[in-house]
Formats: sequence, structure tokens, C-alpha cells
Amino acid sequence: MNLLYQSTRNTDETVTASAAILKGLADDGGLYVPQSIPTLDVDLAALSKMSYQEIAYEVMKLFLTDFSEEELKDCIKKAYDQKFDTPQIAPVREANGTWYLELFHGSTIAFKDMALSILPHLMTTAAKKNQIKEEIVILTATSGDTGKAALAGFANVPGTKIIVFYPKDGVSAVQEMQMITQKGNNTYVIGIEGNFDDAQTGVKKIFGNKQLAMELKEKGYRFSSANSINIGRLVPQIVYYVYSYVELIRKGVLKEGEELNVVVPTGNFGNILAAYYAKEMGIPIHKLICASNENKVLYDFFTTGIYDRNREFILTTSPSMDILISSNLERLIFKIAGEDAKKNQSFMTSLKETGCYQITPEMKKRLSDFVGGYATERQICDMIEKIYKSDHYVIDTHTAVAASVYEDYQTQTKDGTKTLIVSTASPYKFARSVMSAIHPADREISDFELIDKLSDISGTKIPQAIEEIRTAPILHNTVCKAEEMQKTVERILSE
Ligand SMILES: *Cc1c(COP(=O)(O)O)cnc(C)c1O
Repeated sequence: MNLLYQSTRNTDETVTASAAILKGLADDGGLYVPQSIPTLDVDLAALSKMSYQEIAYEVMKLFLTDFSEEELKDCIKKAYDQKFDTPQIAPVREANGTWYLELFHGSTIAFKDMALSILPHLMTTAAKKNQIKEEIVILTATSGDTGKAALAGFANVPGTKIIVFYPKDGVSAVQEMQMITQKGNNTYVIGIEGNFDDAQTGVKKIFGNKQLAMELKEKGYRFSSANSINIGRLVPQIVYYVYSYVELIRKGVLKEGEELNVVVPTGNFGNILAAYYAKEMGIPIHKLICASNENKVLYDFFTTGIYDRNREFILTTSPSMDILISSNLERLIFKIAGEDAKKNQSFMTSLKETGCYQITPEMKKRLSDFVGGYATERQICDMIEKIYKSDHYVIDTHTAVAASVYEDYQTQTKDGTKTLIVSTASPYKFARSVMSAIHPADREISDFELIDKLSDISGTKIPQAIEEIRTAPILHNTVCKAEEMQKTVERILSE
């Protein structure tokens, strides 16, 4: 069966999966969603004999139906290889009575690698399938992790260029170093004077500029997006929810069909949306627990039905979740609006014009699978220390948001369902915040000294991604104002 994709703002036009991957965002500004969510067509007994790569194929073939078996398997093979430091790709481990799904074993030690190591291959395959002649220009706004993961994925991929914008003062020192030392002569990294939302809004504006697109087409370029709105990122993320469920069965933790809660540290709502799709595909997920930091727009949304971005933007120790507009939420809004594009459009217009919208009571009822929670900076810090002390396991600040939200949820509900906490970054990526939770005395020392200490106390090896930036030269130093983003892109493409 051929699965087609439609925009959340106009359901009249449909495109193939490969066209949706190439375009990123629909022309009307909406996000592509599959016309229906397929159900898994292999049973758990069969899945439990499969590797990560084989499970990836079983999941992705149902969504990317215009890719041939050979094409898809080739993309999967190129993505999930020795770039990951474990053959399991996404290992699950127990600590403090719950299970942690470690999504940080890829080349940039954060969960974005799960999707961004395959997206370039999906995209170049899609370009071939659609007879695209122009060079693909990836334009990305990042709150820290996407940028590096996208750069690593696209660096030196023939037929592509990648331009990344990040908030100059809104990412960790390690995150910034990872980006500005990026090699590859098709890579461009630009700091902007503003926050992540400014960067994301700027990128969306450039994508929406039809005049610019036409001018660039004449020069032989076309834009595409590696941001989490791209369906080519969402689909690979469904895989690890299927995989981890299967892993928990293999470990004897779950019985076949037994329900599982998942707790996801959330920013742009991509990761948790993938969990929701996994549930729709037939994986028995009980509650989808959406964990926020002090930028708790989503917590407020799930408790009140009102999405309101009119509030102070708070810089936290979990910067990849410092977001006030969670783009992927639009896909869920569209769904609970009964797939009514007009209705969805009216909420999004309201969000754009007033920064706020309120869903109907009927729509809110359809959110009963979701639970919102948030963690304060204090709670995050305490949780890192607590798990280190109880299990000698060091978690990063983002993962600690999820662990803390889960603890609150458990205390309030006494829900005994087994629970998977999604671990989205290596503690090495946020060593300063992590170490200040465990060893508050070490305030004065450098990031790399902290990293060495972290390795000592946790008994874990320093990841390759960190070793690399110790000595790497800085290759990118462009900074611009948020209003100058388009000009900067035009300058790069006319070089
Ligand atoms: C991107 C990111 C998140 C948020 O994921 P979304 O899919 O945007 O909700 C959480 N933690 C880390 C470490 C991230 O890089």
C-alpha cells in the first residue's frame, strides 16, 4: 500500500514520503502527516529476534512506502553503523527502579543522532527518486544538539550544503565547541544574537519566502529542513520505541502485551510524538509523560488546554528544552481536531498573532494518553545527585528533567506500570551542570578538567565526540542579528 502525506493546514494535496522529506515544510506552512498511521505487520515474537537495524526496516518501510526495500536497507545500513559506540545502538539499562533508554551513543552523544544519522541518506535517495537537479541546502535552527548532529550527518555528503543557526549565548560551551569546530567544506555555522525561538522563526521566514526560493532555484539551489518538523526525522524516531519495548521483553522485564509508560524530556515535541506514533502502531504504551523544564508551556497546555507562549523565556541547565513554541505539537493538534485542517489553521493563526490558543473540551478529551509535568532547576540537580548516589549512574540534565517529572507522577498517582525514561544526552555533553550537582565544590575548573573528573567518578570512558574537540581548531566564527539571517544565507550561497 502506498502511504501518502498531507499538510496539517491543507488536506487537499497529498505528496509521497520522499517528496515530504525533500520539502520539509509544506508550502502552506503546515507540517506533513501520514494520511493514516500504519500498524506493525510483524508480531513481537518475530521482532524479538531482530537487531536494531532490522526493526528499523520493519517500522520505516510502513511509513516510507515509495522507497524500495534495497534503498531503505541501504540508508539504514549507512546510518546505524560504527558511528555508534555500541552494536545495540540504543541500549536500555535499569536504575532506581526504572529503565533508561540511552539515545546518546551516536557521533554527537545526544538523541538527535538517532534521526540525523539517517536523514541525509533518506534525503539524497529521495532527491534521486524525484529527479532533483538542484543542490540541497539544509537550513537549520538549533537549540544546541540538532545543529551538531545535522552538521555531522550532512558534512561532505555530495549534493548538499548545510547552514546552521544557533543562539550565541543559549548553548553549552561543549555544544558550541562541537559546532564551531565542524569540518567539511559544505558546512556553515552562524551564531545569532537572540534565543532559539528567534532562530527558528528566522528559518521559518526564509523557508516561507517564495521570491527567494525562485532566485535560488535559478542559481541551482533548493532549501530543505533537517529540523524535527521533517517527517524524515520523525519516522526514524519511532524505531527506538519499538526496539526498547522488544528489549524489555527480551530482558524479561515485560510480558508480551504488558503496558509501559514512557517519559520524554520534551522541547520541540518531536521525540514524544514519535512515541505516540509507536503507540498508534500497536506498541502497548500506557501514558506518554511529557516532561518540561521551567519553560513549562507544554505542562500548562496539558493541564489547562491553553497554549500560551507569552511568558518569560528562561535559560536553564537543559538548554535543548528551552523552547516556547513546540513546532511538532501542531501534528497532535491537527489529529485531535479530527484532522480538520481549517480548525488547526485557526489555532496556528491565533498562535502567530496572539501567541496563544485554547483547544475545545472535546479536543482536550483526546489528550487523555498524555500527562504533562515539569521540573525546576533545583529538582533537576537533586535528581542527578540522587541517582548517582543510589545507582552510581550519572544522567544528564535533560534526562534528569524526565526522571524528576516521573518521580512526581509516581508519588501522585501510585501508577505501578513499568516505566521507560528516555535518556536524551550523555552527561559528558553537559559536564558542568552535571558535576555541579554531584561535586558542587569544583566550580572554578575548566570544562575539560570537569570532564576528566566525571570520567573518574563515574568509571565511564570519555566519548570520542568529546576527545575530538579538545584540540580541534575553530573553523566558524560568524555572528549575526536575528534580522540578518536571510542576508547571511544569500551571502553564503553567492560565494
Ligand atoms: C532536542 C532535545 C530534546 C527535546 O526533544 P524534542 O524532540 O525537541 O522534544 C531533549 N533532550 C535533548 C538532549 C535534546 O537534544
